[in-house]
Amino acid sequence: MSFCNPEDHRSWDIVKATQYGIVARCKALIEAGYDVRTHDSDNITLLHWAAINNRLELARYYISLGAVVDVLGGDLMATPLHWAIREGHLGMVVLLIQAGADPCLRDAEGCAAIHVAVQCAHTPIVAYLIAKGTDPDLHDANGKTPLMWATWRTFSVDPTRTLLSMYASVNMKDMVQHNTPLHWACMSQNTNVIMLLVQAGADLDAKNDKGETPLDIARIKNVWITSRLQMIRRERGLDTQTNFFQTLVSNKTFRQRTTFVVTFFSMFCVGFILELSTPSWLSKMILCIFCYLLVHGISAFLITQNETMFILPLAISIATKFWVYCTAFFYYWPYIYAPIGVICFFLFSTGMWYFFYKSIKTNPGIITMAEDQKKGAIVHLAETDGLKLGNICSSCLIIKPLRSKHCSVTNRCVAKFDHYCPWVFNTIGAENHPYFIGYLVCLLGILSWHIYAAFQFWQYGTPVSTDLVGFERIWSIMKYSPWVVWIFLNCVFHSTWVCVLLVCQLYQIIWLGVTTNERMNAGRYHHFHTSQHGNLETSPFNRGVVANFADFFQIELCGMLKPLKIDWKSKMEFLPEYKNVTIRKSHDHI
Ligand SMILES: [Zn+2]
Repeated sequence: MSFCNPEDHRSWDIVKATQYGIVARCKALIEAGYDVRTHDSDNITLLHWAAINNRLELARYYISLGAVVDVLGGDLMATPLHWAIREGHLGMVVLLIQAGADPCLRDAEGCAAIHVAVQCAHTPIVAYLIAKGTDPDLHDANGKTPLMWATWRTFSVDPTRTLLSMYASVNMKDMVQHNTPLHWACMSQNTNVIMLLVQAGADLDAKNDKGETPLDIARIKNVWITSRLQMIRRERGLDTQTNFFQTLVSNKTFRQRTTFVVTFFSMFCVGFILELSTPSWLSKMILCIFCYLLVHGISAFLITQNETMFILPLAISIATKFWVYCTAFFYYWPYIYAPIGVICFFLFSTGMWYFFYKSIKTNPGIITMAEDQKKGAIVHLAETDGLKLGNICSSCLIIKPLRSKHCSVTNRCVAKFDHYCPWVFNTIGAENHPYFIGYLVCLLGILSWHIYAAFQFWQYGTPVSTDLVGFERIWSIMKYSPWVVWIFLNCVFHSTWVCVLLVCQLYQIIWLGVTTNERMNAGRYHHFHTSQHGNLETSPFNRGVVANFADFFQIELCGMLKPLKIDWKSKMEFLPEYKNVTIRKSHDHI
């Protein structure tokens, strides 16, 4: 150790020299006759001390001299492997396993290597042990599986996600209290893992030896978990349905269709009520309030948070398109005199529907890997010192390619991840990003056309006296068809946010050379230069405006431009074309 006076080492005993990694002193004592298999007064061996302090060179040296790899020692009667895992020394774990350590040996508490790794939340070690053949459902002495330990003791999501990705059983019960992992999560109020277990198919009706379900335990412990479990039970139709209405509410397809119907109906109703020929604004207002209460009532009973987050934006998008097109054909069409107006309508309409469909249906670049490939890659990374949570996805357990990210909505790793877009019900990634930009351009085009067409209608289609000027004229035009005003306002609203989104997207793609995720989370990646406040300053992917444009849209312009052709699903390393790169830890050859 650099801070120790070399003179001091000569007086150290071998235990202290091993703890501090003083190889020369240890070798001198061994050569003087110290037996590496000796247990000290606490029943601990030198290999234990080397393991817990991550002294790789000494561990190798002791093993070469015949140190017993699976020796039990210390208060917990644990192996050096247990000790290395407790401290999270993956390199030492690899060394001991390669030297023949048995990961199934249990300590005095009945825990094997994987149970200790899970309790200490050392996820890369959990992944490595399973990749090397440890059963992800291995029981400890009390019949608890690693997943039960993870949901009970570990409040970060990673070990649970990794175990579920490795097919750990989500409904196995321990041997003493007969609790499932979901019972254990409810018991320790581990809110982070509840939804992971539910999505993985946890049985909500499983009973322990006292006859309690996870919900029974949650009711005593935690209001949030109780409400989540109750909501999931409703969604799955698990509660006894006492009437027809409850049966309907529990039907997911019915709820999704209701969301669409309510959205179409709401948009129509506002315009329809405003359009009514009655001159009384009071009666129109009362009708509007009545409609609002009706929609609010239906939504409160039939539309859950899930539909609001994931179905409603798509429903609004399609309902708006539908009513806007109806308005165009019934109101505007006779007043579009200029041929360019007709051409623009068909051009933008065709483009919008084509790109809308492609944005929704195109696989954004989901990264998949066969099971044995995943395990092989994990072992390779662990053995070459590259297995870190930053390099692998703890959900998919794949080696993350450059610029990829796990999409929390679709639960998949996506190449060159940009963002999840609820308006197109899909993640935007390497494969569908150009379609998404095409959609935004055409959407803005067609919305602008509708705004132009509304003005054409007001100019040529409304019989308003030419005597009226100023505000009086505007008011009488608006009164002539309130429906058109309502649709016009919708178009203005949507074109505003589409315009802002498009400008942001083009600025990121062409000017900065980054994705939305990279811009928002630049501080998380080693290869971006950020300001003190974490804002992006330079991107290694920025090759200049023209090249960024060519790269993104893969435009060659008869050989004038030379876009980079990169398969982002497998790209692990920076290219020489990307200059000024502060490269993160390499993880090549996978
Ligand atoms: Zn993933």
